[in-house]
Amino acid sequence: MRVVIACALVVLSVLAALGVAQNQNVVSSLTGRISGTSATAATTPEPAKQIAVIKDQERPAASTPSMTAAAPAVSTPVTTASPAPASSATVGAAEATGALASTAVPAPAKAPAPAQMLAQAAPPAGRPAPAPPAESKPACPGNPDALGVARTVEIDTTGGPGFGFEHFKQHDFLRAGEVVLTFDDGPWLHNTPAVLAALAHHCVKATFFPIGKHATYYPEILKQVAEAGHSIGSHTWSHADLSKRLNEVAKTHGSDEAKEKALEEAKGEIELGISAVRAAVGDAAMPFFRFPALRHPPELVTYLGQRNVAMFSTDLDSFDFKMRKSDNVLRSVMEKLKKHGKGIILMHDFQHVTAEALPTLLDQLKLNGYKVVHMRAKTNVKSLPQYDAMLVKEQKLPTVSSRPTSDVVKTVNE
Ligand SMILES: [Zn+2]
Repeated sequence: MRVVIACALVVLSVLAALGVAQNQNVVSSLTGRISGTSATAATTPEPAKQIAVIKDQERPAASTPSMTAAAPAVSTPVTTASPAPASSATVGAAEATGALASTAVPAPAKAPAPAQMLAQAAPPAGRPAPAPPAESKPACPGNPDALGVARTVEIDTTGGPGFGFEHFKQHDFLRAGEVVLTFDDGPWLHNTPAVLAALAHHCVKATFFPIGKHATYYPEILKQVAEAGHSIGSHTWSHADLSKRLNEVAKTHGSDEAKEKALEEAKGEIELGISAVRAAVGDAAMPFFRFPALRHPPELVTYLGQRNVAMFSTDLDSFDFKMRKSDNVLRSVMEKLKKHGKGIILMHDFQHVTAEALPTLLDQLKLNGYKVVHMRAKTNVKSLPQYDAMLVKEQKLPTVSSRPTSDVVKTVNE
């Protein structure tokens, strides 16, 4: 009997280990956050794949080997899969309590954590503690007080996960004191370049949600955004409120045909926006999308899910588009951050007032101990050929001449 039980245990362990290995790349980085569901994840890989996988890319390498060795192989697959430095685990544990809001100015590294979470992350007795990283902050030329990027996360957009607690309660990946900077409605003359300059001065990276039409007006500015290493999603073709037509049809009890037409129009807004961004920056275009006016018609949330495009609402809306003074933008963001403690911040590189406020805002974020998290997508976004073709038609009629303007038009009298 004993032998039978022992054999069964061995078989189960092997099966579990295989399951864990299969899922390591899927749930690897949800450190300390879904340990309660790890058993399910190990045996049923499919649901786990639906989870937006957020991988840290800038964990200090120095601590990795000993943490890997320290983590038990089967009993805590999530922790094993994603070794994290003790300080991160502390914050992660605080986050695991589910608290979005923290009232005080954040002090991430000092946040208290439940004992068992700390125990999971700590190396067992007898092994040396991992050495602290030599230099966690990358140097930023010309600015010794730069914010820098504290952490880069990779988002698996499969299934169209939603982010931003104003509308989506799905994935809370920020630790206390962390912010994600996002900018909408560009690219635009002067304002977008000013935003880029302010971000470069602090060596931080942001995520941009450009309007398709604007991308066709100023593709070279959007290229600068891509070249600076920022992430670029999309924000429809013409900034149409996608819920409007659908609501009208619903209100007037329109026919199925009318509903279908409204839905196709709305999809066209999304797709033409993606095509326009791709036309400007190619593979730098990411499957990230923000709905104009943060209106989220359920049919289109489903559609984006099928397109494997992640949706971003916001945690902190700056309402910068309603403001005339840069001081107000600054106050709006800092006060909301103080209240929430962390979050995805929504601003507009299209707005002059934001371009003006940003240098001081970044200084203030640094002074108050906030950390910037940069989001990247695991894959780029593919546009659909019929909308690429439509985009070409939207552009001016092509001609066979490719001579430069200076060659074609000459000033002969001034
Ligand atoms: Zn917008």
